[in-house]
Amino acid sequence: MSNPIIFCPHCLEERAYHTIEKKEVYPVKGEPVEITATVAVCDACGEEIFQPDLDNANLLLAYDVYRRKHKLLFPAEIKSIREKYGLSQRKFAKLLGWGEITVHRYEAGALQDIAHNDVLKLLQDPLNMQRLLEQRQSELDEKEYKKLAGTVRDALEQTKKERLRDCIVMNYFNNESNIYTGNRPFDLDKFAAMILFFAGVMSGMLYKTMMWKLLWYADMVHFRRHDRSISGAHYAHLPYGPVPDEHDLLLSQLRSEGIIDVTPQIRGETIKGKVDLSANAFTPEEMDTLTHIAKTFQKFNTRRISEYSHKEKGYMETQDGQYISYAYTKELSLQ
Ligand SMILES: [Zn+2]
Repeated sequence: MSNPIIFCPHCLEERAYHTIEKKEVYPVKGEPVEITATVAVCDACGEEIFQPDLDNANLLLAYDVYRRKHKLLFPAEIKSIREKYGLSQRKFAKLLGWGEITVHRYEAGALQDIAHNDVLKLLQDPLNMQRLLEQRQSELDEKEYKKLAGTVRDALEQTKKERLRDCIVMNYFNNESNIYTGNRPFDLDKFAAMILFFAGVMSGMLYKTMMWKLLWYADMVHFRRHDRSISGAHYAHLPYGPVPDEHDLLLSQLRSEGIIDVTPQIRGETIKGKVDLSANAFTPEEMDTLTHIAKTFQKFNTRRISEYSHKEKGYMETQDGQYISYAYTKELSLQ
């Protein structure tokens, strides 16, 4: 196959050309972006020739580099947000109050406006889509509105569990890292993994009240050893011993996510794991601590571990409902 032909402004004649790759800088929104560009070169004189299709492809490449750097959505992502709500490009633009072809242009690769990008990112969350929909209800005919409202409700339903999980971690624990969380922010995954670990060790007979004490000891001992707890949970003094703050909420969340099962027994509830503990859930140091705690309390029943924990200074010196500082690990009976 012979090379394509183009008018060469240097030879002033139609010439065959080939392509080469070279580093080139494209300005994108006033910012220089370096890419490996594909450019046309005249077969006869060896000079570069402007070729509109290649130039366009290079520009799109530069846009991608720019998008990655500024964390802008990619055209395919914009399309998938729109499709998630079952909207045509035109209807999506109308809902957003944008020009009719704006969405079409973005999906075809045009670089989006930053403000538009922010709006699109927000709309990844169906809760925001629902808000927008309420606001613009009058712009849509009733049939359109009902259909979209249904789609948004379904999307919301699907993200409910994640949403709840985010809420729990954000609101109840506020992502703090201090002496009451053992110098690390609360990590619900680690917390769940610790429960799975102890549930596995206690093979089906892990009582809830016992479990809270095992978690407390594991977090405290790990803090003593490494200046950092495992889960980041804060523990409160309750009449029957130290328990993680919002323990019921956490358990019901893990239960609803299908991670654990809680079974009522004559003498309280037992916890069972419903998923396997992932092999890299813990660092080797964390695993050491957990194994040490499991060995120490293996032969204990709930009452014995409760009595044991009640003699810890961190428990004795706090009142009902008060948080127990990890600073008490210095006086902990275990190392
Ligand atoms: Zn030429």
